[in-house]
Amino acid sequence: MSVADNLAEIRNRIARAERIAGRAAGSVTLVAVSKTFAAEEIRPAIASGQRVFGENRVQEAKAKWPALRAETADVELHLIGPLQSNKAAEAVELFDVIHTVDRDKIAAALAAEMTKQGRRLRLFVQVNTGLEAQKAGIDPREAVAFVARCREVHGLAVEGLMCIPPVEDAPGPHFALLAKMAREAGVVGLSMGMSSDFETAIDLGATHVRVGSAIFGVRPKIGS
Ligand SMILES: *Cc1c(COP(=O)(O)O)cnc(C)c1O
Repeated sequence: MSVADNLAEIRNRIARAERIAGRAAGSVTLVAVSKTFAAEEIRPAIASGQRVFGENRVQEAKAKWPALRAETADVELHLIGPLQSNKAAEAVELFDVIHTVDRDKIAAALAAEMTKQGRRLRLFVQVNTGLEAQKAGIDPREAVAFVARCREVHGLAVEGLMCIPPVEDAPGPHFALLAKMAREAGVVGLSMGMSSDFETAIDLGATHVRVGSAIFGVRPKIGS
């Protein structure tokens, strides 16, 4: 199966999941996760019409995407991996959407950089729904208050919430919890669902699904 075939199949499955959930066609955005794949492996996806891509590392994105963007102007780039505040300037320069705002220090750094660069990025707050020690994301008990602080203290518009459920858990309860918190926080975006569970996520309200291996193939272990 080629990248183009894989993409066509994922788009069909997204459309079917939208229908089954009674949601409008096109209400779910596919973020094609191209981390670890080189520019020549990403070009076929762009050629078959994909415009929204996700990367998890600032340095890797910086090495690949300026050239790809120069070839295709309307690409939209999403940061889906953890962000350090010393990379905020580069992240604001490179990305259009950040899914991983999870603490005040990052919110403040992004707000300052966006003002400085005159760019307004779209932002999601990452929630650590499984309370995993090794995983980024704000504690779910603090998520609603943090979204409010992003607005009121940092002057940031938050579009939605993002989560990565623990690998050993059924994802549904995590997606349902994220949807509930989004309603409480008054945000509409839900970035949830990956290759193995995006249909469940769509059923529970995902607006953005982040799909990598089902499009580009198995990643090498390092950096995955
Ligand atoms: C790698 C990654 C994905 C894509 O995972 P697949 O299982 O390959 O679809 C989605 N979200 C995040 C945050 C990732 O790091």
